[in-house]
Amino acid sequence: VADESVVERFRAWLREHDLPVTAQRLAIAEIVLEQGTADRHLSAEEIALELSARGGKAGTATVYRTLDVLVASGLVVERDFAEGFRRFEPARERTEQEHLLCTTCGQVGEFHDERVGRLVADAAASREFATERYRLVIYGTCAQCRQGAAQKPRAEMAHS
Ligand SMILES: [Zn+2]
Ligand SMILES: [Zn+2]
Repeated sequence: VADESVVERFRAWLREHDLPVTAQRLAIAEIVLEQGTADRHLSAEEIALELSARGGKAGTATVYRTLDVLVASGLVVERDFAEGFRRFEPARERTEQEHLLCTTCGQVGEFHDERVGRLVADAAASREFATERYRLVIYGTCAQCRQGAAQKPRAEMAHS
């Protein structure tokens, strides 16, 4: 269920900036800003698919344009994990979020550990470097995929 208040904030932001408040834009915002499904990092393609699954209609160009507007509003953060496409997630108070990306299933998880921030700050400070921002993405295989691989019968493994 989408956080109504966040979608309302987007509606207000559109009005303030004299941008059209369309059903399409609100439907896209609802999908991206949806709460409860932890660690969602959707691509524009996934958003378009979900929109049509919910009976909405919008071309890819509209989805991209709306995502740009959502990012400009500060309610959505764009992520680039060097996969050749962008992912979008709701903006949170904490900006330093570490990510784990499963290269098998594409699932993105996240965590926050203050020690990482301290390590980065120390490493930069010792080199007289003023840190603006940093990001950490751990690429690998998630527990589910590892489990799936382990459960595969040997014969099947040999053939694949
Ligand atoms: Zn996985
Ligand atoms: Zn994230």
